[in-house]
Amino acid sequence: MKELIKDDNNFNDSITTLGKSLGATQLGFSDITILPENKRMGFIYGITIIVRLSEGILNQIEDEPTQTYFSHYRSVNRLIDQISLRISLFLEEQGYPSIAIPASQSVSDPDDAFTGAFQHKTGAVLSGLGWIGRSALFIHENYGPRVRMGTVLTNAPFQVGIPVTQSSCGSCRSCVTVCPAMAIEGRLWKLGTPRNELYDAFRCSQYMKDVFQHIGRGAVCGLCMVACPVGKK
Ligand code: SF4
Ligand code: SF4
Repeated sequence: MKELIKDDNNFNDSITTLGKSLGATQLGFSDITILPENKRMGFIYGITIIVRLSEGILNQIEDEPTQTYFSHYRSVNRLIDQISLRISLFLEEQGYPSIAIPASQSVSDPDDAFTGAFQHKTGAVLSGLGWIGRSALFIHENYGPRVRMGTVLTNAPFQVGIPVTQSSCGSCRSCVTVCPAMAIEGRLWKLGTPRNELYDAFRCSQYMKDVFQHIGRGAVCGLCMVACPVGKK
C-alpha cells in the first residue's frame, strides 16, 4: 500500500483515497491536543471517517424506528469499523502506532455513562466538518445528523481542518419538540459544552429500552435525527 502515499509531509491524500475506496463518504483530520491527554490516549491527531446513512431507509421512520433502520445502523457501524481498521493497519505499516475506535461502543465511565472510548463527534467538529446540534448529535454541514462516524487516533502527520466552535442550529428546535422522552434540553452548543448539558443520555436510553424494545431490543430511536432539517432532502 505504500505506493498510495503521494504527499511528502502528511498522509491526507493517501488516507482519503484509501477510506473512500473502502466506502467512506468523507474523511476529516483534526488536531486533538485541545483535549486532556487521557481523553485522546496520548495521540495528537484524529481521523474522522464519515459514512452517510441511507436516505431511503431514514425516510421510512415516522413515529418509531424501523427494523430496517436497526439493521442498517448495525451494517454501517460494521462498515466503519472495517474502514477504521484498514486505515489503522495502513498507518502502522508506515511506522505510526494507531488506534481504531469502534463506531458504536460504550465504556464504563462513572463521570459520563453512555459514552465511547473517544467521542467521534469531538473529532468531527475539530476537523471542521460540522457542529453539535441541540440534540447532542453531530450535524454534518451537508448531511446533517444523517451520518455514522468512526475515528482513528494516530501520531502520523496530517494537515488538519479548522475546528467549528459554535452551533449553526439558529432558532430551530425541531429535535427538542419531537423527542418523546423529553431528553433534549434545547441549549445551543459551543466548543467545550459538556454533552450532559445538551441532553439526558440516561433518559433517552431508558425510553428506547422501554418503548422500542420490539425493535433491536431498544438500541435505536432516530426520531431526533430524522426531524432535523439539515441534510434533509
Ligand atoms: S434518540 Fe429518541 S429518545 Fe433519544 S433524544 Fe433522540 S428523539 Fe429523544
Ligand atoms: S433539529 Fe434543529 S435544533 Fe435540532 S440539531 Fe437539527 S438544526 Fe439543530
